[in-house]
Amino acid sequence: MRICSARWKIRLRGKKMIQVYTGNGKGKTTAAFGLALRAAGNGLKVYIAQFVKGKPYGEIKALRKIKNIEVEQFGRTCFIKKSPVSKDILLAKEGLNKVRQILMKGRHDVVILDEINIAIKLGLIPLKDVLGLIDDCSRTELVLTGRYAHPQIVKKADLVSEIKERKHYYRKNIKARKGIEF
Ligand code: ATP
Ligand code: MG
Repeated sequence: MRICSARWKIRLRGKKMIQVYTGNGKGKTTAAFGLALRAAGNGLKVYIAQFVKGKPYGEIKALRKIKNIEVEQFGRTCFIKKSPVSKDILLAKEGLNKVRQILMKGRHDVVILDEINIAIKLGLIPLKDVLGLIDDCSRTELVLTGRYAHPQIVKKADLVSEIKERKHYYRKNIKARKGIEF
């Protein structure tokens, strides 16, 4: 059993793989963070950068308690209303720079960029910078989440899961619930 997991680790270390979780259905962030749990449980090192959001969500608090997982948020604690403010752009740029450093050092096996697609869509960070990051990274499982994945990101990805809403209780006026949505 031990030999088997060591083999897995070596195989993962040597490969670059780009995953995208997008679509309008529920489950993108939780899928990526589920992957973080699985990786950490197998002794892999995980770095998570959450863009756009900055509140201490339940999942962020839980992930911080796990050995092998480092989480940082690069968003304000309130939602971006109509258009972003300069602080939103500043934080997103800071996040991108941090991710660049993390990828350059190459000490993490899995790097998750939660809501990065939203950051691009809102114009907080240029698409070309994220595409450059994807090109430059090596030996890493790089995971990008958020609605509206840009077609050029989809093109570069090795795995794209589009989570489609078929039903969602918010249409019945059920508000986001602590512990379930955040
Ligand atoms: P999750 O974090 O549950 O995996 P997600 O990452 O796929 O979901 P996001 O688009 O990041 O989804 O939205 C965050 C959460 O808010 C999701 O759980 C989603 O179901 C919920 N949500 C989205 N739109 C609404 C809405 N209008 N009212 C209430 N909840 C919503
Ligand atoms: Mg999400």
